[in-house]
Amino acid sequence: MSERESTPLPQFKILGQPVHLSKDYIPWLLDRLQRGIGTHVVTMNAEIVIQATHDLELSTIIHNADLVTPDGSGIIMALKLHGITQPRYAGIDLGEDLIRLAGEADREYPVFLYGGKPQIVQKAAQKWQTELPNLKIVGIEHGYLDTEQQAKLLHQIQSTQPKIILVALGMPRQEIWIRDNFHLCPQAIWIGVGGSFDVWSGVKNRAPQYIRNLDLEWLYRIAQEPSRWRRALALPQFAILAILERLWGKHKDKLAPN
Ligand code: UDP
Repeated sequence: MSERESTPLPQFKILGQPVHLSKDYIPWLLDRLQRGIGTHVVTMNAEIVIQATHDLELSTIIHNADLVTPDGSGIIMALKLHGITQPRYAGIDLGEDLIRLAGEADREYPVFLYGGKPQIVQKAAQKWQTELPNLKIVGIEHGYLDTEQQAKLLHQIQSTQPKIILVALGMPRQEIWIRDNFHLCPQAIWIGVGGSFDVWSGVKNRAPQYIRNLDLEWLYRIAQEPSRWRRALALPQFAILAILERLWGKHKDKLAPN
């Protein structure tokens, strides 16, 4: 292993898609930040797995990602079917932990926030700047840009060289955008955070802790945003396929280092 590489985390495949296993991902990410090793993080849930089963582009992005974290409760349940106990790490929690890490590192790791509606991303940035005065935010941009604005954004990202880039465009748009632009800041952590800016801005509520503990955050999101019900159809599909895979799949070689 070269000095610039980091120790791979063990991974397990669910319906052909990798998930990295760890009790705490932050030290692994911090080590890569300190050594200037860029990291594309995908936060995995049942919906992404189902989409990846018929979307080769998305599946390839997931396989090439440096870190795939268990974002959804469906992933945790599927792992449990194979006797693997893994705590859930929601993408929004990982996003928050990265921002706090940057805030505590006293401006060493500049942050860029991209995505969401214009006032939303501004409010999300304000919230973090107020809470963490030492946080260095080097760029804020909303996620509805025309071609010219997009070119300006890429130039800004390249010239400011943030070390943590949070992208809130929804799945799979954010994953594709990160794949296409990762080379601009090859030493940064790039992570798609979906609707996190909506929550940080205060426009949407996150499910209360007791609902999260019951693994029902997905249901809370549908209740808050009924138009999401169609997306939730992936959940029963995922559950059935994960059970079938457990019953008939070959898993002997699936728990392996990267
Ligand atoms: N979004 C965006 N540009 C677009 C489409 C969506 O910035 O062209 C933002 C949208 O405003 C929202 C986020 O992407 O803040 C998607 O949130 P969603 O809850 O759908 O993401 P998920 O967490 O489900 O992936």
